[in-house]
This record gives sequence, C-alpha cells and structure tokens, in this order.
Amino acid sequence: MYLSRLALTNYRNFPDLELALPAGMVFILGRNAQGKSNLLEAAYLLAIGKSYHANTDRELIHLKALEDVPSPGSGQALITGEVEHRDGRLKVIMGLQAIAAEGAGGPLVHKQIRVNGVPTPVTGLVGRINAVLFTASDIDLVMGSPSGRRRFLDILISQADRGYLRALQRYQRVVTQRNHLLRLIREGRGSREELDFWDAELVKEGVAIIAQRDQVLEQLAPLARKTYSELAGSQEELTLAFQPAVPAQGLEEVLREQREREIGAGMTLHGPHRDDLLLEVDGMNAAIYASRGQARTVALALRLAEALFLKKARGEEPILLLDDVLSELDPQRRHHVLEEAGRYQQALTTTAEPALVSDTPVPPSAVFTVENGQVTPS
Ligand code: ATP
Ligand code: MG
Repeated sequence: MYLSRLALTNYRNFPDLELALPAGMVFILGRNAQGKSNLLEAAYLLAIGKSYHANTDRELIHLKALEDVPSPGSGQALITGEVEHRDGRLKVIMGLQAIAAEGAGGPLVHKQIRVNGVPTPVTGLVGRINAVLFTASDIDLVMGSPSGRRRFLDILISQADRGYLRALQRYQRVVTQRNHLLRLIREGRGSREELDFWDAELVKEGVAIIAQRDQVLEQLAPLARKTYSELAGSQEELTLAFQPAVPAQGLEEVLREQREREIGAGMTLHGPHRDDLLLEVDGMNAAIYASRGQARTVALALRLAEALFLKKARGEEPILLLDDVLSELDPQRRHHVLEEAGRYQQALTTTAEPALVSDTPVPPSAVFTVENGQVTPS
C-alpha cells in the first residue's frame, strides 16, 4: 500500500498543507525544525491512531489555533490521508477538537476518526493503514526500559491483529480496577471475594496476551536474525527471546501466592504488563553490552523485521517511514537500508542532508523540501 495524499489543517507547524505523494522512494528534505518529523508523525498517526511521541493530543494542534478556544471554529486540527491498497482506496480523516473545558495543562481535546466516511474508534482504525516508523530514538528499544520494547511488540501485533489491541485494552482496564480494589483491601474497605473475580479476569485476559506475544516472537525472531546479519555484514548473531514476567501457565498460581504482597503494595505486580523482550548479540544482552553502533544496528534490524512481519501477516506491504535515520549510519549500512526500503511499495524518508539523495541505490520517485510548514517539490 502507499500514501497518495496527505492533507493537514492546523496540525503542528502546518497551518494548511495539501500534498500528493507517489509510490516509491520519496525523499523529504529540510533543515532542522522545519517539519520533517511532524510530517511522518502525521502519516504514522493515521496508522496507529495516536502520536508516538506527543504526551497529549493537544500538542498536535497548531498553537495559534489553540489561542482563541472556545470561540467557534477555533482549536481544530484535521489530518487526512488517502492510501491506495490492494482492494482500492482508503480515506482516513482524523479530527482533533480542543474544547473549552480545562484538562491538565490546557483545553481537553476530543478526537474523531472517519474511515471512508464512517465514524470509527481507534481500535477500528489500527490495522487499516499499515506503517513502520524508523526514528533515531529507536536505539532506546535496545538501550532503554522494557516498556519501550513492550510498546514495540504491542504496536506490531495490533497492526496485524485488531483483536489483540482490544484484549490489551481490556487487560489494562482489569489491572486498573484490580489495583483500585487492592488498595481498598489494604485500607480494610474491600472484599477478598471480589478480588477472586478480578484475579480470574486478569488470568483470562493476561494468558491470551502472553500467548500471542510468544507466538509472534517466534515468527519475528528469525526475521530479525536475518536482517541483522545482512545489515551488520558479519557473523554476529542477533537473537530475540520473549521474557514473560510470568509464564502463561503460572499466572494463576503466582497471583494466589503473591496476594498478600500485592495487597501490601496496593498494585498488580505480576502479569504481562511487566513482560520484556531479551535482545542478545552473540549471546550477550544488548541492553548491557552492545556498543552504540551495534545497538543502532539491532534497532534497525528490529524495524526491518517488523516490516517483513507485517508484510507476511497482512499479505500487503506496509508503508515505511524513515525519520532521519540515514545520517548516523555508515555508508554500507545506509546503502543496505535504502536498498531494503526500496523493495517496499513506498518509503518516505526524511533527511537534513541533501547530498544523501544523490547517493541512493534506488532512484527517488520524488523529492520534496519542507520549509517552515510548507512543502514544495524539488
Ligand atoms: P529536525 O531536523 O531537527 O529533526 P524537523 O524538520 O524534523 O527537524 P519537526 O520535529 O518536524 O522538525 O518540528 C518542526 C517545528 O514544529 C518545531 O520547530 C516546533 O516548534 C514546531 N511545532 C511542533 N508542534 C507545534 C504546534 N503544536 N504548533 C506550532 N508549531 C509546532
Ligand atoms: Mg526531525
């Protein structure tokens, strides 16, 4: 599939953008702080339903448009994308409306999504447009905390299977309710019988999530091993292993055994919300031992593997979004990434270095320049 049109109104630093995009290798050039990342963020937003780095949807609305909320017609951002795919054209519109009621730090934002004109919840959007985003902070997948790796897995699985996202949301609700009850019991105001019910719910939802992560990792691991050895051009081997906080079959028992501890803590200490993904290069934990360059290569391999996985799972190529990842690679790795990306129906690649465009193994289908929220072909 490929993104054929992106239109933005009052989105970040784009007051008004109408952009037609071809398939193939599309370069987006621009100096720092001109809107390159914002453009890719908008495209990714249409794929996964929320921003990968904004803390609140409010940040996505052009600051000027927020100034005179609540006067009518103000405070609204629109993100429109059209995608050509196997079965035709898909049009997604996301509207963000700031409303006068004050939330933490500013007006609240109401989000509305339409897919081909039909109002759709986020859970119904995810998986319609498949995309894989590569960013310079992907190195955190390797060096950072388990939560980043869980997020990686969750986004990947959700794009392939909408039922997973729903299960995840149910699980999170169970954890929240259960935590509330654990605190009540600690204060002598809650019932242990009620906790039996929430334990059963946690086991039911949790076991399904653990099983699915396990299964997906089995498919992802060989893909990552292959992409890593091609990228690194060495004999080094990348292995991926799922590290569930508690194995599925043991969850019920752990909850029973740890009940008093969890009541004391007033929170759920065990379950898939604590899972991790172990990344090893030649048997060494990459989070601890990898060099910066190795960690970057591992992160790239994970993203390329994610793309391969989605292509297999969906039977269609995802859109690749490469945000500023080329400049920090050595020429050999850069070439390899561009070559791989060139195999996809569309790759949108941003860079602040115009020289990179002339040094690609795949000729670009279009080159755009972004300057202060305006995009021009170049
Ligand atoms: P770099 O090369 O440094 O990565 P970039 O081209 O990727 O730069 P972006 O991250 O897209 O730049 O940001 C461009 C500008 O958008 C920033 O300077 C920021 O001030 C501005 N910006 C972000 N959010 C908003 C908003 N809600 N309203 C107005 N401007 C915004
Ligand atoms: Mg950027």
